[in-house]
Amino acid sequence: MVVITTKKPEQEVFDALDRYNVKKAVIVSCGTCAALCQTGGTEGLEEWTQKLEEKGIQVLSGIVSEDVCDNRVMRKDLNKIKEEVAGADAILTLSCGLGIQSIVKNMERFDAGKPVIIANNTEFMGMTERIGRFYMRCLGCGDCLLNETGGICPITTCAKALMNGPCGGMVEGKCEVGNYEKDCGWILIYNRLKEMGRLDLFEKLRPPRDWSESGHQREVVFR
Ligand code: SF4
Ligand code: SF4
Repeated sequence: MVVITTKKPEQEVFDALDRYNVKKAVIVSCGTCAALCQTGGTEGLEEWTQKLEEKGIQVLSGIVSEDVCDNRVMRKDLNKIKEEVAGADAILTLSCGLGIQSIVKNMERFDAGKPVIIANNTEFMGMTERIGRFYMRCLGCGDCLLNETGGICPITTCAKALMNGPCGGMVEGKCEVGNYEKDCGWILIYNRLKEMGRLDLFEKLRPPRDWSESGHQREVVFR
């Protein structure tokens, strides 16, 4: 599994740096998922070092960390460059949303007020077809429905994340969202359940999802 990230528009990142009047920066680049997505790793670090320096922003240090999203690893890695972190106006992170929040959390130990700016958008957890090609198949909703839907996720295959379908926007198996170019997720579920001889599950009416139970500062602890 890879957390899929894409690059933010460059100007958006520079606007964020301008907002904090950044003249000196440290770059933290993810060497794992973002490296695979070409939004981090060594190449991303080199790319952003050059971009910042062209704009007159001094890069005090740049590191590639294998686990930007692991608080413990990030603490050790930031500790190795703590003087540069102290001297920087901001940290630019080339990671997913987990990575930046791990750095923000660690900033409590270094300099709680230091801005941390992200250069990427986090898209989804990717199922790998091959390196460089990934599919969105799960958003980690916290209440998996796949036992009722033949192993196909309605949250990621239905454009409206409907609990029952298909909706009135389906035409000949295609979804109105995206101009009928993609398959309707609920038709995929129907076909799968039919193959399994379990259309009784398709007929089951599911109540609307209570999204309040899916998120909001959730924590999972394994003992
Ligand atoms: S229902 Fe879909 S989004 Fe939710 S956990 Fe299952 S696969 Fe992931
Ligand atoms: S047409 Fe199908 S995939 Fe598109 S929104 Fe309706 S139920 Fe979901």
